[in-house]
Amino acid sequence: MISSRLMELVRCPDCGGTLDGAAPDLACGACRRRFAANAEYLVLHPGVSFAEQTKYLDEALHADARHEHVTPPLLSAKIRNDVLRSFLAPAPGDAVVDLGCGSGRTLVWNADLGAYQVGIDVSPYFAREACDHADLVLGDLRRLPFGDGVFTKAAALDVFEHLSREALADVLRETARVLAPGGRLFVYSHVRKNSPLAAGLKQINRLARWLERRGLVDLARERLRKSDHLNPLADIPDLERTVAAAGFRIERIRYYTPLIGGFVENILVRSGEHWLAKRAVRKQAAAGRAIDGNDAAREARAAAKARVGRRGPSYAGLRLVTWAMKLDLLLFGRVRSGPYFALLRREGGGSGRP
Ligand SMILES: [Zn+2]
Repeated sequence: MISSRLMELVRCPDCGGTLDGAAPDLACGACRRRFAANAEYLVLHPGVSFAEQTKYLDEALHADARHEHVTPPLLSAKIRNDVLRSFLAPAPGDAVVDLGCGSGRTLVWNADLGAYQVGIDVSPYFAREACDHADLVLGDLRRLPFGDGVFTKAAALDVFEHLSREALADVLRETARVLAPGGRLFVYSHVRKNSPLAAGLKQINRLARWLERRGLVDLARERLRKSDHLNPLADIPDLERTVAAAGFRIERIRYYTPLIGGFVENILVRSGEHWLAKRAVRKQAAAGRAIDGNDAAREARAAAKARVGRRGPSYAGLRLVTWAMKLDLLLFGRVRSGPYFALLRREGGGSGRP
């Protein structure tokens, strides 16, 4: 959606000027650049073009229609969201921006907390429910189209690992600018240096590849997603120095070594998906219809999501598995490793546009 509050927060991504007019007919009051909008979101991409672009712009990553509808949070998504709620604690009176919001599902899951929420992403694959629950903007995190200090809180889940060092510095500087002094940024990402525990994850991934060679799981999408990882940070001290340079201090940190989670998501869930997709192909063939694998996967996923959405036995089962996956956090949360949850505090003082 595009609320009147959003219209007060947004600025020209090129010059920081205020926007005149009403959506969909907007222009920068300073540089006169015109901006597009539709009924659901503003389009505020910067005029500069960056050499570095994420594969998340790629249609192929969205071919399985994962983004179209939001189901209740489960598995690692539920764990991430639970830690977000506990660390960032969005509340009425907060203005929160979800940086790289993707489908906007985090906005939907946390709408009940009563904070004002804005989602921004580089690609327009927002879920129907996100359009109903939050203000949405299409833009680039390196040139945030918002005024200075307009947010109290921000979140960046699965974002940092997709950036180069230079882009990460840009994103952190821009986030510091749009946060009020004392504002918080919640991050879920990973550094390259893992704990010895991560050797267990390597074994799980080896098993997943073995199953793939036997045609029992399909890891193509996972591979595509990971191929976009640039992993800019070496280790936690590197993270500390990098965020400090942008005016942030790490207030809280927990590590996530998903040994149980890796087995559940990379083996059990992938096998389940693959089995459902194959079954869909067989059913269609029996009904005399030819269907390609991608369509089958898409349909199977939609059907599975609908079942989970009705909160029947599949939902209860997944809830139970999710609970077991939480042990990874309880058991290994203080063992320093690559994947981490961090709450960063934006220290006081001005941080204007460069
Ligand atoms: Zn402008």
